[in-house]
Formats: sequence, structure tokens, C-alpha cells
Amino acid sequence: MKKARLSSGRGTASRRIRCALLGCVLVILTAAAAGCGTVPEIKITPKPKIEGSSLYVKKVENLPDDFILGMDISSVLAEEASGVKYYGFDGKETDLFKLLSDNGVNYIRVRVWNHPFDKDGHGFGGGNNDIASAVEIGKRATANGMRLLVDFHYSDFWADPGKQMVPLAWKGMTIEDKSKALYEYTKDSLKQLRSAGVDVGMVQIGNETNGSFCGEKVWFNMQQLFSSGSKAVREVYPNALVALHFANPEQVTNYEDYSKKLAYYNVDYDVFASSYYPYWHGTLENLTKVLNKVTDDYGKKVMVMETSYAFTAEDTDFFGNTISDGGTVTKSYPYTVQGQANHMRNVIDTVANGLKAGIGVVYWEGAWITVGRNSYEENKQKWEKFGSGWASSYASAYDPDDAGKYFGGTAVDNQAFFDADGKALESLRVFNLVRYGNETEITVDALEDLELTADLNGEVLLPDKVNAVMTDDSKQPVDVVWNCTEEQIASMKAGGPGKHRITGKAGEREAVCNLNLVEFNYLKNGGFEDGTEDGWTVKQYGKADQLNVEDKKTDSLSGTWHYHFWSAAKNSVSFDLEQTVDNLPEGTYKFAISIMGGDGGKTNIYSYALVDGEEVGRKPMNISSYGNWDTETVEGIEISNGAVVTVGIHVECEGSGNGAWGKIDDAALNSQKS
Ligand code: CA
Repeated sequence: MKKARLSSGRGTASRRIRCALLGCVLVILTAAAAGCGTVPEIKITPKPKIEGSSLYVKKVENLPDDFILGMDISSVLAEEASGVKYYGFDGKETDLFKLLSDNGVNYIRVRVWNHPFDKDGHGFGGGNNDIASAVEIGKRATANGMRLLVDFHYSDFWADPGKQMVPLAWKGMTIEDKSKALYEYTKDSLKQLRSAGVDVGMVQIGNETNGSFCGEKVWFNMQQLFSSGSKAVREVYPNALVALHFANPEQVTNYEDYSKKLAYYNVDYDVFASSYYPYWHGTLENLTKVLNKVTDDYGKKVMVMETSYAFTAEDTDFFGNTISDGGTVTKSYPYTVQGQANHMRNVIDTVANGLKAGIGVVYWEGAWITVGRNSYEENKQKWEKFGSGWASSYASAYDPDDAGKYFGGTAVDNQAFFDADGKALESLRVFNLVRYGNETEITVDALEDLELTADLNGEVLLPDKVNAVMTDDSKQPVDVVWNCTEEQIASMKAGGPGKHRITGKAGEREAVCNLNLVEFNYLKNGGFEDGTEDGWTVKQYGKADQLNVEDKKTDSLSGTWHYHFWSAAKNSVSFDLEQTVDNLPEGTYKFAISIMGGDGGKTNIYSYALVDGEEVGRKPMNISSYGNWDTETVEGIEISNGAVVTVGIHVECEGSGNGAWGKIDDAALNSQKS
């Protein structure tokens, strides 16, 4: 199935007929064929195994010879202009394209912006990638036996799910004129590549076009633009694949929705491509599920168009990075050279074996390293002059609110396959070694950071083991000794809720425990955010018309859910909403709950706490008007071992004529310093 050409709708069928006819003509006019501007296709064949690497790589089975192992190096020309040099494993300066090719990379991806320059010709940065630089990069890729993947953003600067700005020259055009302009531009750009002899294997119509594209937000308009771009590709590079590219596979209905709309409008494309950054985009299992659905439903080829991972937490260009230590993103692998390789290997394995029609993986900007080690100021001069940072100050001419404000260097220097001096990292060999496997001796690669959430008022117990992440990505618990005294813990607790980084030693390695001190809520579903009454018991004494959990953010104290009551009739609201908890650690506790409402008439509302069935505390509460929340806390609830505590709110309203109504939210049972 993988190698078979998959049907892609009516557009492709008619194209096939045209190709078939053209084929007949070509048989007759073979001599003329070379003259009509076609470029010989590079046949992708695997390089022999690189021997002697220390990198652990488990073989990816069933990897087709022509599986796309790509790298986006769009910034390379700006990097080189800034003085960046690349060095092979032997420490000798080398051409980046040759080095990548030697290590098994077979596709180079390049982004293309329509006109990333201000009126004085200053580049917006991010490589200043227009079609001229794509031609340059394409020629070098072709010369080194790699095919080109052209990534048209159809914008004058970065296009992504948050931003799909129309090129300045197309601003204000009707959709018909814009479609025509996009077609002409695509055709003209691809002809420039063809004239330069560049072997283009795939063309993207748009970059991460989630729900908007080239300034259009309506699918009826977007699909016209996709189709115009696709048509141009078919005409100039008839053998190239047409890809559409989306992001956020973790938002589970996205791809189903996009692929359905593309089919509905009969957009002619071959590849449904996804970005996959593991620290944002969910699990590989989920990626597999959502992309296989696109193949199942519409027969499309699929691929990972962008991915990357960090080999270090360090920043080297004085401009902050997308991922680093202390962030809130998912850290699926250690930030090590081996971790980076394991990530890449696993993505390749998923696409090759998990996906039914997976054709490749492209690593994003694997060579975008720092332009200098000395200072921000020195680097900034280069970013401004050569466009080697993600954006220059000149970008304010086009994108004043984002790039024009936050311009600077590279945010992915710690996700490159090169160190800050330009020397290739061992992980670069993964593109070659996945084909053959390289199962070196399994050793400890790094220690897993320990994430510990503890009750501010309870006992904080630091575990005596942490996980060592092995080179094969398996885990083994190892002994750890923390550099943290009881006095230090006590002082952290005295500071209230907060996050603390504690270090320790496991053998020779430094261990890290990220301690999050919180007021632990011993109630289940305390804010009703489960969307059910889970954990709660309702005892009704009246006949309320509505007594249920409700999903309405504006009526909730926090989150989107709360507990709602209302009755049209007088004298009908009377209930207890309570929760019973056992197995609490011995100690002193407090119970808080909040209510708002109105039209209560004469009311009897109070929060309460019972220990082993005996009431130990009660706080009167009130409803007055919309948005006026009343919060009360029952304190000093003493719990001995084995005791059972019940906490809740009693609501009893006569009603003022319209019928009483109200909202209850944010119940919490916390331990309390005695
Ligand atoms: Ca950086």
C-alpha cells in the first residue's frame, strides 16, 4: 500500500489521463522531451552504513529505500553570510549540503516568502527566504544528490497556525484575483527552479494552514487558493507531489475536519502533511490515529513535515529558545544528543510503520545555530544585516505587532544537529543508522527530572530513587541523595504555594526534583470540572426544578463548570450538597466553598463539616445578586487516624416570588497548619 499511488480525487484522475497522453507523445518525441524544461529526477538510494558510531539506534524495520528523510535548512544562506561554518565529525570544515547527504538526508526543505524585504530592501530575517534563495539552496541540494521540497508560505513573512498574513502586493485583492496571482506566482517561481535544473520532489501549498490561508479565513476561499497553487505545480513539475500542511494533531478533530473540507471541494493534492513537535503536539499514538484516518477516509499519503528536539537545554546566541529547562512543555526525552536521536528515530519508525501511507519525515532547521558566541549586540548586528535571526527590526514594516516587536536570533539553536561552533553532533548520523540499526552497549544517558507535587501543609517526602534514562530510552530507578535539609523544606513551605528546584546526586550525575508546593485539595471534583456530580452526594428536601452541574464559564467562579440550582416555584429549593472523605492523614483541616445567586427570599444557607457524623463546624452564607460570590471557610477540623469527614453546603430558600436560583463552585478541603 505504501508504494502504490493512492487515488486523490477527480483532479488527479484527469491529470493522470493528461500524463498518459503526454507519455505517448514523449515516446515519439524523446529528443524533444529534454528540451521542454524537465529536470532529471534524482533516484534516492540509501548510503552504506556509517560504522563506528557510539550512538544507540534501534533499526527501523521496513524502511523503503526512497523514504523521505528530509531537513529544512532554510536559514543556511543567511547563516553562511553571517560567518557560520560547519564542520564534519573529523573537525574539518565542510559544505553543509554534502555533510547532510553523506549522512543519509535525501530531501532539503526550503521556505519561500513572496517578498520578505522592506521598501529599502532590508530583509525581514528568518533567512530572508524568497524564491531567489530557494533557487540557490535547490541548486546545492540537487548537486549533492538531494531532492528539494518547496514550502510556499504565500506571505511576506512567517505563516503558521497563529498567522496567515497576505503578501503586501496581494492585499485587498478579490479572491478571484488573488487565486490568479497565487497561480502565476507559483508557476513563475517553480519555472525559475526548473530553469536552474533543481530537482523538486514535492511542493507545499501553504505552511501550517490551520483554518486560514493567505489572509483568507473562509474555506470556500481557501480551497480556491489551494487549487490554484496545485494546478501550477502540476503544470511545471508534473512528477512532484503536492502537499498541504497543517499543525496541531493533538486537537483531535482538526485533521478530520480539514481533510473532509478538502475532499468536499475536490482540492487536488497528494500528501496531507503534519507538523509534529513532541513537546506541543501530543503523543505519537495520537498522531498515528489522526493521520491514518485521513488515509482511510481519502486515500492520502501522509508525513511529518516538521519536527525537532533539543540536544541541550542551553541557549548559545543570547536569544531565548523555544524549549529549555523549567518550561511547561512535555519533555518526552532528555535534552541530550542521544535523546534528540531517539526522538528522530521514533518519529521515523511511527511514520514508516505506524502510518498506513507514511512517506517521510522532515527535521526543521537542523543547522540554524548561533552566529557568534560573544554578545547579544554582536549577534544582533549580523541578524539585522544578513537576516540570520528569526526576525530583524525591519520586519516591523510588515508585521509590527509580533516580529517587529520581538525580533532577534534563533530559538532553535539547541535543536540543531550542530554545536554552537558548527561541529556536527553524533545525532546527525541517525538519518543513516535508522536503516541499519546500531545497537551499542546500553548505558545511562541522563537522569529524568522528578516532578513532585506536595501539600504545603503536609509532610514533603523526597523519593530516594530517580529514573535513569538509558541510551535505548528505557528507564531504570537509581539511588539519589538530595542536597536539601529539613530546614530548607520548612522555609519553602513558609513561603506559601510555589515551585522549587531541588538538586541532588545519583552517582556522579546531578538529579533534579521540581517540587510544586500546593494547598492540596482532598475533595474529588471540587470545582465540578469533571462535568459530572462525581464525588458529590445531593440530598434533596424540596422540589427544585433544576439541580445539576452546568457548563457555563461566566457563571462559574473558576473553570467552566459549577453546580446550579433554580426553581420557578416558591418554597421549593432545599438541599444538601456534600462529599465524604476517608483515609485522610491525621491533622487539622479547613473547608471552603462559594455560592452566588438571587431571588432567595428568606434563606437558610450554610457550609458545614461533620467528623464521624458529628457536626464540628458551620458557617452561615448568603445569596444576594448575580456575580456576588460569598465564600466561607470552616476552619479547625481535627481529623484523627481513621476518622471520616463529610463537608458540604446546605441551601434552603423560600424564594422571593420569581423562584430562587444560584451557583455553587470551588469547594476545597485543605490541610491547615495546626
Ligand atoms: Ca537561541
